[in-house]
Amino acid sequence: MKKQYLLLIITAVILGLFSTCKNETSYKTLIITGQNNHNWQASSPILKQILDETGLFSSEIMITPKTRGDMKTFNPDFSKYRLVVLDYNGDSWSEKTNNAFVDYVKNGGGVVIYHAADNSFPAWKEYNEMTGLGGWGDRNQKSGPYVYYKNDQLVTDTSAGTGGTHGKRREFIVRTRITDHPITKGLPSRWLHGTDELYSLLRGPAKNMQILATAFADSAAGGGTMRDEPMLMTITYGKGRIFHTTMGHADEGGGPSMQCVGFITTLQRGAEWAVTGNVTQKVPWDFPSAAGVVLRPDFKEITMDQVLSNIGGYDIVKSTKNFTYLQQKIRSLAGDEQGLSDLEKSMVKVLSSKRTTVEAKKLLLRELSWMGSDYCVPVIKELESNVDLKDEAEFALARLKK
Ligand code: ZN
Repeated sequence: MKKQYLLLIITAVILGLFSTCKNETSYKTLIITGQNNHNWQASSPILKQILDETGLFSSEIMITPKTRGDMKTFNPDFSKYRLVVLDYNGDSWSEKTNNAFVDYVKNGGGVVIYHAADNSFPAWKEYNEMTGLGGWGDRNQKSGPYVYYKNDQLVTDTSAGTGGTHGKRREFIVRTRITDHPITKGLPSRWLHGTDELYSLLRGPAKNMQILATAFADSAAGGGTMRDEPMLMTITYGKGRIFHTTMGHADEGGGPSMQCVGFITTLQRGAEWAVTGNVTQKVPWDFPSAAGVVLRPDFKEITMDQVLSNIGGYDIVKSTKNFTYLQQKIRSLAGDEQGLSDLEKSMVKVLSSKRTTVEAKKLLLRELSWMGSDYCVPVIKELESNVDLKDEAEFALARLKK
């Protein structure tokens, strides 16, 4: 009896050790904010949530003194962190803090430059070398060249002019330019991003920089440059790695730019790469295609199995959220026959389950009527004998025959 007790205690201790280990391997992350011409009160907690959601990072938010405050009091110990995320566009830091940050990156620290953080510190040479490209803040030809794609050619353009602009906010296609980079590997070559500012005319030193993805700034959409502008970049500085995303203009609650699964996923992958030089995260099932924007209103990934199981108990009065997920998924699979066929099988399973509500079955029949194949026909035929579903089943079969 005593021996068994001891064994139990030893097992408990080992299990305990394992679970602590798991916590210790998450990368300590510092999100710096507190001054920005953007709604940093909204964006920084969302950045934290997006990163921590992966289980890879444990983030804390540090708020700088207010504008024209005493910056000498802002002295983070960067060496405690594996990743520093900048959601900051404001006053210069103290020289001591600048030097500490440069040392941190030179020694291999990871950095994420998020949206307007590339507007910051126009006169800080080392910072601009870390961001690669920046905008506004009186940037001009002295800041470095414009870098963009034109007719599928990478262009380094030293012509005179201001840096930084964007047209009207809109949805736009993001195009992967380097497909074998750890951050972009497995992502579709084109995907539709949720409504956002399309940063354009960025210029900077652009040293040790790779442009992973671009977006075409169509002048028809207002203020466009007719160039493919950099959206996602990587930069190396000393031993440090920097991931730079120009996307994610924050509205209250984040809005579609931050809720976009494309933004979320590239941020999570870019952050991991900045820390380790590698990406272990899988591309999520709900990553958008060029056919439609996919949003996660609460920034959490939900599995398709969960969605379908939730739809099974679907109550139209309560929530349409899961059904919206399903519709987004179907849209994002346009042209992917295998993906659509797998999804159809899962949908048919829910459709044929006795526990699925009539309301949910009606909605599933409507979707299957246009995206289904021969596979779903037998189950739908059976539903013709159900008084509540007869009309919908007949309608679906008629459409499927076409
Ligand atoms: Zn913005």
